[in-house]
Amino acid sequence: MKTLSALVVMLTVSLIIFGCAPNAKETELGKFITAHVGKIRPIDKEANLAWWGAALSGQPEDYDRVRKLTLEIRQVYSNPGEFTFLKDVKASGQVKDAVLARQLDVLHNAYLKNQIEPELLKELVDLGTKIEKDFSTFRGTIEGEKVTDNKIKAILKTETDSVKRTEAWLASKQVGAAISDDIIRLVKLRNQAARKLGFDNFHTLTLTAGEQDVGELDKIFSELYELTNEPFATLKAELDGVLSSKYGVDVGELMPWHYHDPFFQETPMVYELDLDAYYEGKDVRRLAEKFYAGIGLLVGSVLVNSDLYEREGKNPHAFCTDIDREGDVRILCNLSDNEYWMETILHELGHAVYDKYHDRKVPFLLRRPVHAFTTEAIAMFFGRLSRNPVWMQQMLRLPDGQRAEIEKVSGKYAQLKQIIFARWAMVMYNFEKQLYADPEQDLNSLWWEMVEKYQLVRKPPGRDKPDWAAKIHFTAAPCYYHNYMLGELLASQLHHHIVHRILKLDSDEGVGYVGQKEAGEFLAANVFEAGALYHWNEMIQRATGEPLTPKYFVAQFVSR
Ligand SMILES: [Zn+2]
Repeated sequence: MKTLSALVVMLTVSLIIFGCAPNAKETELGKFITAHVGKIRPIDKEANLAWWGAALSGQPEDYDRVRKLTLEIRQVYSNPGEFTFLKDVKASGQVKDAVLARQLDVLHNAYLKNQIEPELLKELVDLGTKIEKDFSTFRGTIEGEKVTDNKIKAILKTETDSVKRTEAWLASKQVGAAISDDIIRLVKLRNQAARKLGFDNFHTLTLTAGEQDVGELDKIFSELYELTNEPFATLKAELDGVLSSKYGVDVGELMPWHYHDPFFQETPMVYELDLDAYYEGKDVRRLAEKFYAGIGLLVGSVLVNSDLYEREGKNPHAFCTDIDREGDVRILCNLSDNEYWMETILHELGHAVYDKYHDRKVPFLLRRPVHAFTTEAIAMFFGRLSRNPVWMQQMLRLPDGQRAEIEKVSGKYAQLKQIIFARWAMVMYNFEKQLYADPEQDLNSLWWEMVEKYQLVRKPPGRDKPDWAAKIHFTAAPCYYHNYMLGELLASQLHHHIVHRILKLDSDEGVGYVGQKEAGEFLAANVFEAGALYHWNEMIQRATGEPLTPKYFVAQFVSR
């Protein structure tokens, strides 16, 4: 026995020395990575600090610094010689070490999306900036009078006169006609850049660089479509009944302007749920810190570096930033004692714990969430709790009666919110895919085909205007919208797994996660620590036992 184990030890030692020694390509790549990280790490930290400073001060010169540093980073990744090197190493198939191979993938993708010739890039940036400016300065008109976006939204929320609703809706679409030609030009330029890199179009390039695959996304979205078809039709019919009597219009006559926002992406305020009263006078910061501590995720170090309250000149929204991938994680909020900010601080701290709990032994390039949608999923997972009756009861010490009050509407509300958003996301994903596949086609008709198919909202008779172009995402965040949906799906998949496999419960009834350390430990060990060590779908497979699937989202929100 002794000899055998000695032999095993000898074999192991020699394997370490000889068998697993890095080959020439691996050594070369290792050197490249060291040099690259040496270069990028300080600029990255400086850019993050500059961005943080600008968000706090609102000063144009601070934003200018952010712009310069962002450009500096972009210049590193646009180096064609370095990209060729990475492409060749990848093509050689010689990189066997899994961690090195992952870093190679991540680097390759980062360089890939920046390989656009300087002249074309300038044209793209200039046109994109022009459209965004035109979009944000455009004002629609009602009876010749200019109206703001907020005015339009207010009319669609509260006005009961169908004629006035129609005018407001039409006003919200006028921007589309003003900028659609430019957007089509931008789409063609983006396609031109993508084709030079050997891709069919820009949509495919963007997805590939984001480690996503059109076939994979098509499968997820069509499954989601099938699974939500019937329940959506039922809920929508119920909603239409309410709207029809509210506006005195036959159900068959309901038009896009009868919904409460220009795209029917939000829940009409007919089953309104007012939770603000429960948070009035409460310290949402303290509640959030206490909740996270209870599940074993400590956010004290994040909160001391953060900026949480409103101030003149400060960014009025919220975000989370990982300054150095060494533990300096901060959130920006503008807290107030209402449900919106309760959700927001839970959401941002979700991003923060993901960043904070990366294993520091994971190489710098992989020490970040594996995908934008995976960190969004964690943020959503926690953000959803601000409306969870069990969570609210336990954190706010509500009597059973109040919990029952909340339960009466919260389930219905969450269901509507999620299913309406899912159907809207299908329009965005499928339209955008086809927009890039053929920008010459009749996009106005295509848009309404999608809206009728997925949202069951009728096209106004004879309507032939670029209504799609009134959505700024096509310009400002191209080929990204689907990630919001994937985030929701993953949040539900993790929820299902934790409830059934980790907490070993039969259903999520009564689950608010308060004090449930196993939940926090599970997320840290299976999602946060690995960072980007595995492809996102491998991470999900390892964490939950199966790849990303819409079925748990459907189970949580649709078929209950
Ligand atoms: Zn977020």
